[in-house]
This record gives sequence, C-alpha cells and structure tokens, in this order.
Amino acid sequence: MSEIGLLLTPARIAGRVGELAREIERDYAGRSPLLVGILKGSVPFMADLVREIRLPLRLDFISISSYGSGARAGVVRILKDLDESIAGEDVVLVEDIIDTGLTVTYLLANLRARGPASLEVCALLDKSVRRIIEVPIRYKGFDIPDEFVVGYGLDHDGLYRNLRGIVGVRDAGSLDGDIGSLADAITGAG
Ligand code: 5GP
Repeated sequence: MSEIGLLLTPARIAGRVGELAREIERDYAGRSPLLVGILKGSVPFMADLVREIRLPLRLDFISISSYGSGARAGVVRILKDLDESIAGEDVVLVEDIIDTGLTVTYLLANLRARGPASLEVCALLDKSVRRIIEVPIRYKGFDIPDEFVVGYGLDHDGLYRNLRGIVGVRDAGSLDGDIGSLADAITGAG
C-alpha cells in the first residue's frame, strides 16, 4: 500500500461534482443539453453529475479505443458511436481525465463535424503537465499531478473503476487486483 496514495476522497469528489452541476445548470438554463459520456471511464462521474443537474437533459455515450503511438498517437477508433444525431444540439462531452489531450481533441473534431449548436468539454481530472495539445476544458473538476490514477471510473487493466475515491499509483505494477484493501483505505479516510 505504500506506493498508493489517496488523491481524492468520495466526499471531495461529490462536493466538486455538485459545483460543476451548478455551473452547467446556470450556463444551460432554458436549454436542454445533451451530455455525451466517453465509455467506460466517465460512467461513475456521469451518473453522479447528471443527478445533480436540474435541467431536462439527455444522455448518450460513445466508446473509443486508441490506435496507438508515434505518428498515429491520438487517432482513435470509434467502437460504439452515439445513438442519435447531435446536429443542432447543445453538447457537453464528459470525460474522466484529460492527459495529453489527444483523445479529446480527436473526438471534438469528429463531433464538431456533425453540426452541434454548441460543444463543450467537462472533465473530472486534468493532468495538465502532460498536455501535448491544448484542450478548452469548460468544466473542470480537479487539477492533478503527473501520477497514474485509478478509481471512480479510471481503470488499470479494466479493474478499479468501482472504487468510490481516486488513488494515485506510483507503480501500476504494484496493483494486485486487491480491490478490498483499496476500498477500505478510501472508506477509512472518509
Ligand atoms: P489523452 O488522450 O488525454 O492522453 O488520454 C486520455 C485517456 O487516457 C483517458 O480517457 C484515460 O483512459 C487514459 N488515462 C490518462 N491518464 C490516466 C491515468 O492516470 N489513469 C488512468 N486509469 N487512465 C488514464
């Protein structure tokens, strides 16, 4: 456990998610935004965020996988596209974390080409020190240091998304799949 540090408690996340919801409520008052979540990392964030927003909003999800590195870094393949057209919609793209910015930049270009009325980014975490392309993040939860994090949607090898808080992991190899002790550490810290 020594290599793992609790970065964000469930209470801190909940508090900030509530604040982001108030901002979105204010900005989209009188409108009906479409929140687009990027699967699978955005699921817990999206679920908590939308339940705090008192607007007639709708949801859709897109699933992507990245193609790789080098010249093709940031080129993503769409595994599951949106169900509906976004033409004329006020779209908020909801992402768990922005790291290099390549994924979201690609997706923004893809979505913009579909003619939404507006398109903004809402990201829970911003690892801005790693940024390669500047991303306009309209709604940002937390700035975090250059550390690999898991929990609250963020995974390692598909695991740990179901943790209620977010932990930083110095060495991802030290994660052994023991979700129980991590969950206990998060609960113990409040
Ligand atoms: P970007 O294209 O901005 O570099 O990458 C964004 C994606 O990389 C995120 O959606 C996420 O899947 C993954 N990612 C970046 N940093 C982390 C991290 O610290 N932890 C986890 N679990 N995934 C990350």
